[in-house]
Amino acid sequence: MLKKGVLLVPDGLQYPLFQDMLARGALPHIQHYIVNRALVNVEHAFTGFPSSTFEQMPALMTGQRSHQPGAIFLTEDGTRVNYIGNDNPSKGNTGKRDTIFRFIDQWTVSIFNPWNDHADDKHFANHSLKTLAQYARGWAGSNGAAVSRLLHAMEDRQPLNFAALWFFAMDRYGHKKSDHALAQKYQRFDSLIGKIGERLEERGELEETLLILTSDHGMAPVQETVNPYSLCESVGLDNARVFAYGYGVGSVYTSSTDLASQARDLTQHPAVEHVILPQGTNVRRVYSEASVADVVKEGDRYRLDVHEGLPFGYSADLCEALSRPHTARESLELTHQEEQPNAVVGTAESLRHTYSPQMTFLAAPGHAFGLVRNWAEQIWLNANYKRSHGTFHRGEAQVPLLIAGDGEPCVVPYAETIDWAPTFFKLAGRPIPPVFDGVPLV
Ligand SMILES: [Zn+2]
Repeated sequence: MLKKGVLLVPDGLQYPLFQDMLARGALPHIQHYIVNRALVNVEHAFTGFPSSTFEQMPALMTGQRSHQPGAIFLTEDGTRVNYIGNDNPSKGNTGKRDTIFRFIDQWTVSIFNPWNDHADDKHFANHSLKTLAQYARGWAGSNGAAVSRLLHAMEDRQPLNFAALWFFAMDRYGHKKSDHALAQKYQRFDSLIGKIGERLEERGELEETLLILTSDHGMAPVQETVNPYSLCESVGLDNARVFAYGYGVGSVYTSSTDLASQARDLTQHPAVEHVILPQGTNVRRVYSEASVADVVKEGDRYRLDVHEGLPFGYSADLCEALSRPHTARESLELTHQEEQPNAVVGTAESLRHTYSPQMTFLAAPGHAFGLVRNWAEQIWLNANYKRSHGTFHRGEAQVPLLIAGDGEPCVVPYAETIDWAPTFFKLAGRPIPPVFDGVPLV
């Protein structure tokens, strides 16, 4: 019998806090319904690069490595595109036709608050007076409304075969709240998971449903926020357009063709750790203050070619091992214990969208690029807040990845978040679509 699935994606989890709360027993429903019943429990799970919602939600929903250039980007003729307001797989029903939903032919529901527009399953995000009241509470209410809608959808005459819930409010809490206040938000999230588990139990559907818990990115503390425009101007990139969306990756669009000297200059700034420049389609050159290296992708193999110093804080031995052609899985095996895990694959897979920028620069730990306050580029979201994300660093890239159901439990040492999709299809007894970049973990 085919199994059903419910994908739960709290946006942007502060992983150490979340793990600590689990260990202390402060998340009893997640413990009971997901951890204790985990068929797959990944010890080191990482998102792709950039570790940010507008790249990694599409990755989660397609099972493919991030193919989007960010939240805001420029088309070939220089038109600024606001990805948040566009047709994209981060927005649930809008992107159902392009995502994993297209491989599940029975009734499915995607609940991507607050942007659940153009619903192709003909359900309004708001379906009752109760959810209207929940939405009236703003961000806090939107999580509750998402769960209400799921419970409502379960009561439908057709059996619900797959549902995806995006808890976007969690990201906002992560950016803004103190550890103490964030812990309270995680406890509320836990009680929402409890409601879903209890309802599945009441309906006798818990055994036949796989509950998948993961996130699109982590969060790390920010001590200093800088203006990415000023940074670029300081190295002579006066005519560049710079998008940063408040997080740890700056995207530079410019007509300049040789950016090597600007890249080197940028790495001298204390807020910048890495600068990545594409060298044709298969090579990405990574600059840091003390290193220059190329990341090469040939077919499905990756390799690191170090010119100076040691990139990503890796040891000479690790760089040597990574210099031999290897698969994405081998790259993760070699780097999953590092402070910057999976940086070779992340770098190799970056900047390959038609509208990718000419250069990206990554924040040093403790820094973010949210300080943009002008009328030309109103990129104020997530700016100046307590925590940020986007880079390769563990604090921003590590997330939970658990798949719960009835059966033999298995602990997996390392995985990428996109592995959830092929794993789910396999556990659910469905054929694994050939489009996934991830691998089944069982
Ligand atoms: Zn965020």
